[in-house]
Amino acid sequence: MTSEYSPQQGPAVSAEGPTRDRIIEQLHLHGLKPTHQRVRVAEILMAAPTHMTAEQILAEIRRAGERVSKATVYNTLKVLAQRGLVRQIHLDPERSVYDSTIVPHHHFHDLETGELRDIDPNDIAFSRFPTLPEGMEAEAIEVVIRLRKKRPVETPSA
Ligand SMILES: [Zn+2]
Repeated sequence: MTSEYSPQQGPAVSAEGPTRDRIIEQLHLHGLKPTHQRVRVAEILMAAPTHMTAEQILAEIRRAGERVSKATVYNTLKVLAQRGLVRQIHLDPERSVYDSTIVPHHHFHDLETGELRDIDPNDIAFSRFPTLPEGMEAEAIEVVIRLRKKRPVETPSA
């Protein structure tokens, strides 16, 4: 990747990923006790800027030979998202993806695989912007570009 996009805030700023100590520090900073499960989930999610579903995180923990329930992972993610350590992105009613980059940013969303990828903020510009409702200000602008495979061009059969 040649993109220079790097999140300016949030825990996942260092290229090599935060150490366990930094994760524990982040949990403390957000008012959370660094329980084993919280540290494990945060470690997986915050190792690098990434997007993962709860199932992927669960699979990652189990791959390491640890026993953990689905409910524990879900609850842990909920708490981490509530406290602002990660961001929960609702792709559709049944699927949430957790994003380790907490500043607002844009995404490609592959509809087939469900994968989310960050878009370099410099690659999007607006030439027109709606008037905001009275008394309101924009807190964040986030664009999702949904992707599907190019459909084959229909060639009229001769
Ligand atoms: Zn993202």
